[in-house]
Amino acid sequence: MAKRLVCAACGTRVIWAVTAAGRTQMLSHAPDPAGLVAAYCDELGGWHAKHAPAGEPVAAPWKRHMPHQATCQPPQDPAPGKDPQ
Ligand SMILES: [Zn+2]
Repeated sequence: MAKRLVCAACGTRVIWAVTAAGRTQMLSHAPDPAGLVAAYCDELGGWHAKHAPAGEPVAAPWKRHMPHQATCQPPQDPAPGKDPQ
């Protein structure tokens, strides 16, 4: 039921938040003042997200977060199946 709280690509902690439209969005776990998404965790542990345009104040308990896709940096693996010469 609970989604993984770590990004499968890069291993960073993430938040799965639900938007007002009922879609899930992966956010970086640490708040980021430059983020354009406001999120908060309710008393049941569920995260909620909404768009937060730059320059608009974000009232507590909401905090700005960055969509994880914007910051995801998977480690660069060597191409599989090739023997190093
Ligand atoms: Zn990632």
